[in-house]
Amino acid sequence: MCGIIGYIGRAEATPILLDGLRRLEYRGYDSAGVATLLNGTMEVRKCAGRITNLAQLVQKDPPNGSIGIGHTRWATHGRVTDNNAHPHLDQSGKLALIHNGVIENVEQIREQLLSQGHIFRSETDTEVFAHLIGRIFDDNPGPRTQRSLMESFRLALSQVIGTYGIAMFHVDVPDVILGARRGSPLILGIGKGQNFIVSDVSAILAHTREVVYLEDYDVVSIERDNFDIRSLAGTGTSFQVSQVEFTLEEAEKGSYPHFMLKEIFEQPEAIRNGMRGRLSKEESTAKLGGLNMSSRELRDVERIVLMACGTALHAGMVGECLIENLAHLPTEVEFASEFRYRNMPMNKDTLVFAISQSGETIDTLAALRESKRKGHRTLGICNNVGSTIARESDGGVYMHAGPEIGVAATKSFTSQITILTLLALLLGRIRHLSSAQGIDVISALENLPDKVRQVLDLSDHIADLAAKYAAAEGFLFFGRQYSYPIALEGALKLKEISYKFAEGHPTSELKHGIIALIRPEVPSIMIMPDDAVFDKNISSLEQIKARKGPVIAVASEGRKQVAVLADDVITIPKCPDFVSPILSAVPLQLFAYHLAVKLGCDVDKPRNLAKSVTVE
Ligand code: GLU
Repeated sequence: MCGIIGYIGRAEATPILLDGLRRLEYRGYDSAGVATLLNGTMEVRKCAGRITNLAQLVQKDPPNGSIGIGHTRWATHGRVTDNNAHPHLDQSGKLALIHNGVIENVEQIREQLLSQGHIFRSETDTEVFAHLIGRIFDDNPGPRTQRSLMESFRLALSQVIGTYGIAMFHVDVPDVILGARRGSPLILGIGKGQNFIVSDVSAILAHTREVVYLEDYDVVSIERDNFDIRSLAGTGTSFQVSQVEFTLEEAEKGSYPHFMLKEIFEQPEAIRNGMRGRLSKEESTAKLGGLNMSSRELRDVERIVLMACGTALHAGMVGECLIENLAHLPTEVEFASEFRYRNMPMNKDTLVFAISQSGETIDTLAALRESKRKGHRTLGICNNVGSTIARESDGGVYMHAGPEIGVAATKSFTSQITILTLLALLLGRIRHLSSAQGIDVISALENLPDKVRQVLDLSDHIADLAAKYAAAEGFLFFGRQYSYPIALEGALKLKEISYKFAEGHPTSELKHGIIALIRPEVPSIMIMPDDAVFDKNISSLEQIKARKGPVIAVASEGRKQVAVLADDVITIPKCPDFVSPILSAVPLQLFAYHLAVKLGCDVDKPRNLAKSVTVE
């Protein structure tokens, strides 16, 4: 959450900052601001609302200079106001700072600074942070050099409890931007005669693809032709320069009206990329070298724990069914946000996976660290190469889904399920699955992208359904077995982008209470592909219809009975039950998308949300 960009070079900073902020806007869109520095003069423009508001402000009165910092906010401390927008200044007005994260001991520091006569103009924790650094620098009796600014910066960082990805500059020490990270992502972008500090590589792809993913407790300084990375203690630290995998075009909308729709339509390719080079027909298994585990080590695993939040949690729930059914291995899914605060008993043969598209989700990262602290081998399933979870885990599997910009996750969900299917196949093949069964799983996976494409062809039909049901008060989503997590995910998508009340339940729970909600104003979406519980689902459908509840069924082709009973049907291709979750998820993504568009909602930037939850 929250986008950060710092630039130092030879070009005008403002257009570069604004372009970067536009690309970062999916990380937060409560307010935005920039600060630049030219010949000892700092200029700040900031306001509540979207980047377009800031762009108008900047157009009227452009801030000048070839050094600058920019921020797009997802508010944690203080309302969404102009004053609370970043950058924040220190007491002297000479230091400008942008911040992603939360300072936990803010009250204590604020009290201390108030007693020293500081006056705060905002309600944010970030402003207190800026004042603290400025105060320490101003109290430093030595000359005002880059070195003393860095010392003050480090001293202030050591007094702060909480999380931060920050960038700042000071008028008295021009020609340098300082940055640091703890808990929130921060990346150094290396250019020719110019350098960057960003929270996300998408902000600088137009300028460079050479980056250093900074570690927690790294402190960085950038000048036009140099950069320096040190530990918080000031000692040198090792780092690796990486090349960003994806291109600028991949991170753009192209001809699609929204990132979300583009990403929904990218799913056949994303799924194929997730499987590429990982299926071995010869051995009828999956090859996942990144796990860094031998077959013998994998065979000794007695239990799997999957940790994730939000959509990734729903993918994990599908993973639980997959691993239990295909590998007969006890598997549990945990809210990463809860795991870190509970004391879950786990024996030593438990293998833990942290699932996160961004690889930066703070709760999942914290759960990963807790699991590692307890001595468990902990692996990651992430999309962003070089992300913190990818670096801190003992191994893992990259999704290779390409950049996901839409705040509502779509292709990352089906990619995560694809990876979990590969994992279930691998674990199954060293346990109970025969070679012939392994081949069946492989061919089902290989056919999957084409089947997803067939479902995508239903987009217009689904748009008509969305229009038909757009006035509904709320929606109920039902599914059993593999389809239950899809019911949860279908409801989540709809809530996230259309703000309709929506709940997902196991169909089998209908009679245990939820049936009280059934009435003509509340449509039910029943996910009922061909599987072992199909007939049970038909009974539930009858029960809903008996109470005048409208039903949209997601069912396999050729099921005439469903067409007779349900009000509307979305037909998915026939497939084995273990790949049905992907095929059922896609129409629900399209349904949520079209319904939100119909209602005039801002699909790519839904209310109160932001991509990549990096604050607790
Ligand atoms: N805590 C800061 C604020 O509320 C930063 C939030 C963010 O990460 O955008 O302004």
